[in-house]
Amino acid sequence: AALYGLDRWGEPYFGVGARGQVIVQPRGDRGGSLDLVELVRELQGRDLTLPLLIRFDDILEDRLERLHGAFERAIAQYGYNGRYQGVFPVKCNQQRHVVEQLVESGRRWHFGLEAGSKAELLIALSLLDDPDALLICNGYKDRRYIETAILARRLGRQPVVVIEQADEVERIIAASSALGGAPFIGIRAKLSARSTGRWGSSVGERAKFGLSIPDVLTTVERLREAGLLDDLRLLHFHIGSQINDIAVLKDALQEAGQIYAELTRLGAPMGFLDVGGGLGIDYDGSRTATAASTNYSLQNYANDVVATIRECCEPHDIRPPTLVSESGRALASHFSVLVFDVLGAGGHSETVPPPAEGEALILRNLRDTHALITAIAAGDLEVDAAGERAVVERLQEAWNDALKFKEDALTAFRLGYLSLPERATAERLTWASCQAIARQLEGLPAGTVIPQELQALPAALAGTYYGNLSVFRSAPDTWAIDQLFPVLPIHRLDERPTRLGSFADLTCDSDGKIARFIDRGQVKPLLELHGLRPGEPYWIGLFLGGAYQEVMGNLHNLFGSTNAVHIRLAAGGGYRVDHVVRGNTNAEVLEAMEHDPDLLLERLRLASEQAIGRGDLAISDARRLMAHLKASLEQTTYLEA
Ligand code: PLP
Repeated sequence: AALYGLDRWGEPYFGVGARGQVIVQPRGDRGGSLDLVELVRELQGRDLTLPLLIRFDDILEDRLERLHGAFERAIAQYGYNGRYQGVFPVKCNQQRHVVEQLVESGRRWHFGLEAGSKAELLIALSLLDDPDALLICNGYKDRRYIETAILARRLGRQPVVVIEQADEVERIIAASSALGGAPFIGIRAKLSARSTGRWGSSVGERAKFGLSIPDVLTTVERLREAGLLDDLRLLHFHIGSQINDIAVLKDALQEAGQIYAELTRLGAPMGFLDVGGGLGIDYDGSRTATAASTNYSLQNYANDVVATIRECCEPHDIRPPTLVSESGRALASHFSVLVFDVLGAGGHSETVPPPAEGEALILRNLRDTHALITAIAAGDLEVDAAGERAVVERLQEAWNDALKFKEDALTAFRLGYLSLPERATAERLTWASCQAIARQLEGLPAGTVIPQELQALPAALAGTYYGNLSVFRSAPDTWAIDQLFPVLPIHRLDERPTRLGSFADLTCDSDGKIARFIDRGQVKPLLELHGLRPGEPYWIGLFLGGAYQEVMGNLHNLFGSTNAVHIRLAAGGGYRVDHVVRGNTNAEVLEAMEHDPDLLLERLRLASEQAIGRGDLAISDARRLMAHLKASLEQTTYLEA
C-alpha cells in the first residue's frame, strides 16, 4: 500500500486486504467493505468483461455527505448566519445514472445542478424536480437558452442565468420583456486575484468568461433600467479547476466578498454567492500545492469560504449570502474505478543462449563479460576491505566492457560480418549482463554510492505492460494534460514486485500509454509491477477518474465506451448491481462514423461469394469469416481475454 501511495490517496475508500487485494469501503469508515478482486470475478461471471468501469454509488453519496458536513461544521464554527447549498456541474460527468444518483442523494440538502450548455440544461431541467434546488445556468447562451430558463421558473424550478459575457444582459432583457418575466440572474465576475495550477488562466483580465468590473457596473445599470435589478440574486466566480494552493482561494474569496457587498449597496437583492468549482483532489497523497495534490483538506476549504465571506459581510452589516459551490471533481472523482487486464508484457529475456561452435570473437567477449558479472554477483570474487565500493567498481568496469562489445557487434552486423542470429545472441548477452548487474546492485547495503549510469539500469530493463484499454477513451487527461491518476495492480499486493514497467494501451499510437506513477510519495515514469504468471490474470485499477474522463474520452482507433456497472452495498451485507451500462459495440462505433454495419456485412458476403466462385475460399471458411464479423459487430471494442 505504501509503495503505491494507497495508504494516502486511498483514504478512506481504498485499502489492502489480508490476501493482498484492494478492498473498497464505499461508505468510508462507516462500515461495509468489498473485495475488489472478488467483485471483478463475479461481474465477469455476469458476462461483464474487462475493461470495466465500476461505479460505487455509495462513494458518490459519501462525498456529498462529506461536502455538506464540512460546510455545516464550518458554519457552526464561525457562527455564520447563512447556509450552504451546492450544485453539481453536470459537465463533470453527464451519465444519466450518475446525475440521477446525485439528485436523489442530494435531495435532503436541496442540492442542485449546474449546466453549461443547452443539452446540459435539458438534463438539469428534466432531472431536478426539487423546487428549492438551484439550477445554475452557465456557459454561452442564445435567446432560446434564456427563454427556456425563464419558462423553467414558471415550472417551479429555480434557474439562475449567470451573465458571463457582457452582451448577454441585452438578450436577457429582450427575452424577459417578450415573455413578461425574468429568470433569476447572476453575474460572473472576472477576478484579478492571482491563480496557479493548470487551470490558472480561468482568472484575470484575459479569462474566457466573466465580466470585468466596468462591465459589472454597466450590467447592473442596464438591469436597473429594464426593471430587472430585483432578479439579480447571485454573484459567481470560478478560478479554475483543481486549486492546489489554498492561499489563492483566500485572495479570490476576499475580492469576491467585496464585490458582493458592493452589489448589495448598488441595490441588488442578491442572496447567493457562488464560489464555482476548483475544490481539488489529492491524487498523489502528498498534501502539497503541486499539480496532483492540494495543500488543504475539504474542511480547510469550507472553513476558508465561510470565514472569509463572513469577514467581508460583517463590517458592511450585510446579511451573509447562501454559499454555493460548483464542486465537480471533488464529488465525482473517487466513485469510479476502471479495472483493465494486462494482455502481455514486453521486456528482455534473461536467458543466455548456449555458445555455438566457432563463435565470433565479439560474442565470446560478451559471454566472458557476462560470466564475470555473474561471478561478482555470486560473490565468488575476492573483494578487499572496502567491499561494496570494490564490487561497484568492478560492475561498472564490466558494464563498460559489455557496452563496448555490444557496439562492436552492431557495427559488425552493419558491415555484414555478423549474421542476424549472431546479433540476437549479442543483444541477449548484453541484456542478461544488465539484468545481472541490476540484481547485484539491489543486494548492496543502503547508502552504497552507485554511479548514475548503473542506477539507470533497472529503468533500462523496464517492461511494457500491454493494457486492454484505450487511454484516449478512459483516461484522456493522462494524454492531454499529463494528469496523474493512481494506477496499481488490484491483487498480489502482498507480494514484492520484481519488475519495473509502464503501460501501453491498445491504440496504434505511441501516445497511448500511462507512464506517470505514484511511487512511495514521488512521481515516477515507471511502476514496480509483478511478473506475469502463465494462465493467471493481472488486473490493474485506475483510480480517482470519475470526473471528466468518461466524457472527455474519444473514439481514437474506434475504441468505444467500456462496460460499466453501478454497485451499492446491500443492507444485509454484500452488494447489489443497480445498473449495468453495456460498453459500445463495434457496430455502434462504426455507426458513429456513418458506416452502416449491415452494408459492411453485405459487401463482405459478396466478396466471399466471389472468392468461393474463384475457388480461393471454402464455403466453411466463408461461414466462419461471416460468423466472426457478425460476432465482432455485437461485441465491445476491446480484446477478448
Ligand atoms: N463551474 C465552472 C464554471 C467550471 O468551469 C468548472 C470546471 O472547470 C466547474 C464549476 C467545476 O470545477 P471542479 O470540477 O474543479 O469542481
